[in-house]
Amino acid sequence: MTDVAHTHGMVGLAGLEARLAQDLLYLELPAKPWVPEKRHEGERVRDVVVIGAGMCGLAATAKLVLTGITNVVAYDAAPEGSEGPWVTFARMNTLRSPKSLAGPSLGLPQLTFRAWFTAQFGEQAWEDLDKIPKDMWMDYLVWYRRVLNLPVENGVRLTGIHDAGDVIALDLLDHGEARRVFTRHLVLATGRSGLGGATIPPFLEGVDRRFWAHSADDIDFKALRGKRVAVIGAGASAMDNAATALEAGAASLAMLIRRKEMPRINKMTGIGSQGVIHGMHRLPDAWKWRFVDYTAAQQTPPPRSSTLRVSRHPHARFYLDCGIRSVVERNGALDVETTQGKMEFDFLIAATGFSNGFTNREEFAGIAPFIRTWADGRQTADMGPMRSNMSDAPDLGPDFEFREKVPGTCPMLSRIHCFNDAAMLTHGKVSGDIPAVSAGADRLARGIAAALFAADVETHFANLIAYDTPELQGDEWVDSTPLLQVEGTR
Ligand SMILES: Cc1cc2nc3c(=O)[nH]c(=O)nc-3n(C[C@H](O)[C@H](O)[C@H](O)COP(=O)(O)OP(=O)(O)OC[C@H]3O[C@@H](n4cnc5c(N)ncnc54)[C@H](O)[C@@H]3O)c2cc1C
Repeated sequence: MTDVAHTHGMVGLAGLEARLAQDLLYLELPAKPWVPEKRHEGERVRDVVVIGAGMCGLAATAKLVLTGITNVVAYDAAPEGSEGPWVTFARMNTLRSPKSLAGPSLGLPQLTFRAWFTAQFGEQAWEDLDKIPKDMWMDYLVWYRRVLNLPVENGVRLTGIHDAGDVIALDLLDHGEARRVFTRHLVLATGRSGLGGATIPPFLEGVDRRFWAHSADDIDFKALRGKRVAVIGAGASAMDNAATALEAGAASLAMLIRRKEMPRINKMTGIGSQGVIHGMHRLPDAWKWRFVDYTAAQQTPPPRSSTLRVSRHPHARFYLDCGIRSVVERNGALDVETTQGKMEFDFLIAATGFSNGFTNREEFAGIAPFIRTWADGRQTADMGPMRSNMSDAPDLGPDFEFREKVPGTCPMLSRIHCFNDAAMLTHGKVSGDIPAVSAGADRLARGIAAALFAADVETHFANLIAYDTPELQGDEWVDSTPLLQVEGTR
């Protein structure tokens, strides 16, 4: 490494990792393990199992390990390096977020994207970087997992959750083989689709899947060459999918947008602050509701760069105030009846987002009927009408734990933590997007640490009584008590 390279921040990954190791040493991290070991039916019980090793799952696992909760494992159905949307269905070129966000770095400067980038490419490259290329963000997450040596197993899908008394039994499909593990706490870091899945508009029900896809599907864009394509929606994913279809050679591209005007202002990002991060979850329900309801009504605009990536193609058309009434297959194409008239397409992409409704997911069937949602009596007169993604949202406790619809019907819910997008209405945006994921992981790990400590309080008290290592040897002072008594009686 040359001096010049050093002065420009290019210490290389090995140099950065050495700095990180030193910081962790100075901070005495990871903290020493402190949770007593548990067994169930002769099997070792995990303290925490995390489902999902995307950004939130990694941050949660890292924070737990740093807190001394080391008997933890994260499972992800995806292959290593393909977790989350970044190299699968994310079709933007770069992240929307500013490059400088601290993201999942958990308060450790050497763990930031900036440190990782600068160590390899230098300060000048950092200055020159506009937004973070999405594949590079995935590379950073892969490094994050490696450098912290996080206990992650890939190719493992959660398929079922069962109450096993003090512990939770999890059914897993591990590279196609069924197996069962036990855990004391379960964290669902299952991503943007959270507990639900893709939102499919009713007019697409029954339409042959050859003619349409959801924006999160694995779409064969090459097959769209020369085709008439329509994208439903006006969010970031709508633009990114439209641009990808155009770049793949679509003959024409129609953006079908129900709203009369494009949303243009990113409201919640605009007021982002530490106050929002730490204050939102403590607000009265009616205030939480007002923030989320207003933001949902205003909608988040697509990024400017994504919109320009579409509009620079002369055969891209934006149809506003264009609701869809029906979609019918006819002669190998789709007749689409819209509020702007009839249109014909070869393929539709529904960029219609994700739902919180968790009743259709196999892996949550064991808990779904018992989970209390915001529809279960949380709404008060000052909240306004229900929106489906809000009323379906789980009504969580302070540590992201689910609560029971009917007390006593599913006690394990208090040990299952919803650390994904569905937590937003209760907790604010701390378990999905990049800006506040460290604060979310911190809140989660503190809650789990406190719950584990309380559950084992008898063991900890017994340890207190049993602890007998003297700090004083007995030779540090001379006992003057008898002398004082004599002096006092004089
Ligand atoms: C296209 C796109 C672009 C985005 N861009 C930005 C951005 O620029 N800035 C920003 O702040 N946010 C952005 N977001 C939002 C957010 O940052 C991402 O959604 C991010 O991936 C959230 O991380 P996560 O860990 O919650 O979910 P994910 O990264 O989706 O990870 C969830 C993981 O859970 C696994 N999983 C789910 N169910 C199971 C199961 N049953 N068993 C085992 N594994 C399971 C999945 O395989 C997946 O890897 C974007 C989101 C999308 C979809």
